[in-house]
Amino acid sequence: MADSSRSQESRGLNREQLTELLGWLKPLQQALSLEVETGFNNLQGRQQRFDGFLVHQLAAPPPLPYPPGVEARLQRLHQGFVGYEELPESGRRRLVTDTRQWLHELRLRLEPSAPMAPPRLRLATATASAPRRELGLDSPLTQLQGVGPKLAGRLAAIGLLLVRDLLKHYPRDHVDYATRRRIEALVVGETATIVATIRRCNGFVSPRNPNLSILELQLQDPTGRIKVTRFLAGKRFSSPAYLKGQQRLYPQGATVAVSGLIKEGPYGATFQDPLIEVLESSNAEVRSRNIGRLMPVYGLTEGVAADRFRQLIDQVLPLARAWPDPLNQTERRDWSLVSLPEAFQGLHAPDDPSQLDQARRRLVFDEFLLLQLGLLRRRRTLSQRPCPQLELIRRGDGLVGKFLASLPFAFTAAQERVFGEIEADLQRSQPMARLVQGDVGSGKTVVAIAALLSTISSGWQGALMAPTEVLAEQHHRNLCRWLPPLHVTVELLTGATPKTKRRQLLDDLANGSLKVLVGTHALLEDPVVFSRLGLVVVDEQHRFGVHQRDRLLNKGLQPHLLTMTATPIPRTLALSLHGDLDVSQIDELPPGRTPIRTAMLTAAQRSQAYELIREEVARGQRAYVVLPLVEESEKLELRSAVEVHAELASEVFPELTLGLLHGRLNSADKQSVLRDFADGRSQVLVSTTVVEVGVDVPEASVMVIDHAERFGLAQLHQLRGRVGRGAAASHCLLINGSSNPLARQRLDVLVCSNDGFEIAEMDLRLRGPGQVLGTRQSGLPDLALASLADDGAVLEDARAAAQQLMEQDPDLSAHQVLLALLEEQQRRLSGAAPLN
Ligand code: ADP
Ligand code: MG
Repeated sequence: MADSSRSQESRGLNREQLTELLGWLKPLQQALSLEVETGFNNLQGRQQRFDGFLVHQLAAPPPLPYPPGVEARLQRLHQGFVGYEELPESGRRRLVTDTRQWLHELRLRLEPSAPMAPPRLRLATATASAPRRELGLDSPLTQLQGVGPKLAGRLAAIGLLLVRDLLKHYPRDHVDYATRRRIEALVVGETATIVATIRRCNGFVSPRNPNLSILELQLQDPTGRIKVTRFLAGKRFSSPAYLKGQQRLYPQGATVAVSGLIKEGPYGATFQDPLIEVLESSNAEVRSRNIGRLMPVYGLTEGVAADRFRQLIDQVLPLARAWPDPLNQTERRDWSLVSLPEAFQGLHAPDDPSQLDQARRRLVFDEFLLLQLGLLRRRRTLSQRPCPQLELIRRGDGLVGKFLASLPFAFTAAQERVFGEIEADLQRSQPMARLVQGDVGSGKTVVAIAALLSTISSGWQGALMAPTEVLAEQHHRNLCRWLPPLHVTVELLTGATPKTKRRQLLDDLANGSLKVLVGTHALLEDPVVFSRLGLVVVDEQHRFGVHQRDRLLNKGLQPHLLTMTATPIPRTLALSLHGDLDVSQIDELPPGRTPIRTAMLTAAQRSQAYELIREEVARGQRAYVVLPLVEESEKLELRSAVEVHAELASEVFPELTLGLLHGRLNSADKQSVLRDFADGRSQVLVSTTVVEVGVDVPEASVMVIDHAERFGLAQLHQLRGRVGRGAAASHCLLINGSSNPLARQRLDVLVCSNDGFEIAEMDLRLRGPGQVLGTRQSGLPDLALASLADDGAVLEDARAAAQQLMEQDPDLSAHQVLLALLEEQQRRLSGAAPLN
């Protein structure tokens, strides 16, 4: 007893310390192996770049009693990754490999039961009365049967160190080997199993490749014959002795089960690299480990064979029983969930598809539940702060009533509903946190103005923030149309606001005589002080990071927050990212809009697009020509815009005036280019994606988008919303510069649909959440199993469950396991947050 604890002190860590070490080590090891898999290209992680993450992580190891030399080595590695970006590939490879190797050794050195200890020792001490060390969830994998240091090293390289890691290493997929068929009924494309008799077995080395051996089985069942081929790559398979042995495995007349994907062969249907297993008896039920069941498929690492891996999983599966379930039996019953141990069993070794479904649902549910609980708790913290108390607003005679009466149109039903939700929020004693989603032109801005007026009529001030100066200026112009007639003061603050004007404006803001301030991020800066800030409207919310939102909310009293986005994101994404917001949707366009006609052209058909521009301009309309964002370099983008503009102006449309808009123009120049276009002094506007958000020229009726395949669908839809704002029928022409059928399929979505939500859903399906949101969007949840594209229903259930939990047990004192998981998640998220 005393002996073992002394050895622990001198060599290893106790359980808590080990957990702490692993919490720090695992993300490092995962990042390192991902970097290997992606070819040392310093990949963009969700939150930050690979090198940034390593630098951050290596600088902050948990404070543990390390053996001498460890801290110095960590420091050197840290230094190494500071210069990672500059290293050539060979240098990167060396650094990453060394680091992986060393971290792995560190782990082995520090764990309490030294796995390198000679196995004989254990044999010598093991007696009938002292059973061998109990395996538990936190046992290192080296304690499993058949795991030596080499295999353990390979597993550690993908972050698998403990039994619990193995259980959490979910299958990528499952292959259905349960479908049993007769030979004559095999269907190409299906995965199926046949049971047949061996007529002949041939093994030979490929005549063309000495390292490839081929095993050919001629099989027969009552309905037909089939030839099944297995290819064995590698020298060790091509020895005559080995092949002889194989042939002996498959004697003539024996019964085998063969399982796999059916493909079209030169002589009819055949199996692609099948599993072959000899059965004891021809009429017995198919009983074997693999054949005839749903087989899990794992994302594997170099040097760990699939079968080996499945054996390990089988070894640890019984230990899943000890996994603490964060939900009690009543909750599981209410929410139709299997227990967590059952879920692990069902995912790793399902008996049938329904068990697999149940298992998946449970694990996905838990992922979403944690996510939603985190967001709801954040929301609760926010809502406990004091907020502006708005008086009960009566629309009829107040500013809002006057505003609504002055509009040349009535609200659509959707606008009415959403404004109702906002009004209700504004009268609560908790600060509003609402996201309004609506397609371009659905009338979000008017609703936001009404909300601002509500706030002002109760004696508070409002702010409107936009992501770009162009858009802020446009909002300002828009507000100037409606607010001054109602005697509501409004000003614009941008980087371009002259000093004296700026000082005046800030004074007025601080003494409360200025009611509405419009601007960009500049509104977040320190000198901006409101007297009584009641409501902040944020336009195009997806461009504001959460921390910017927080910064604004931290400006003194907590104002009500209304965010708007015209890039609708699917509800699953919205809930995952903005689960701390209430979401409203304006899902109806004002009447009288003529839908935009969208067509796809090949690059060779470009002249048709120019022809259409010419026709429309002759009719008094205007056109946009949009060029793709060149991600590599802003300079390149600029050049391409300048070049295309020059070429169009001199060769294609010499008779027209062409404007040029790009990100490098200063604000005044941008304004004048836009004004020329709006007033008709130019008829064609060549532009980079700056026009994406909010630019509003009703006479523009054509948009030609070059290299449309390089844009995201949602972004194209957003761009397209720049036309079709007036009464004239409008056109959007997508020039597809790619011959890839997938690109075509993607663009077709846009040709066929005008519905932003539908398009966003498709985009999510085709490209995945990371792409849909773009690399700049941070805060995407870390989901191992759940899919934002497919698991929407489970997400809704989990969200409802999270709400119920928060009501019944707000501090989660009766849910300690859940609380611990939640805190771990919080730590991970804040640890991984970008450093800026
Ligand atoms: P969004 O901000 O959602 O893109 P806007 O609020 O800018 O949409 O509205 C687009 C155009 O439609 C504006 O010219 C606006 O005046 C007009 N509009 C808004 N609501 C209505 C409505 N209910 N009926 C008719 N036109 C409307
Ligand atoms: Mg708008």
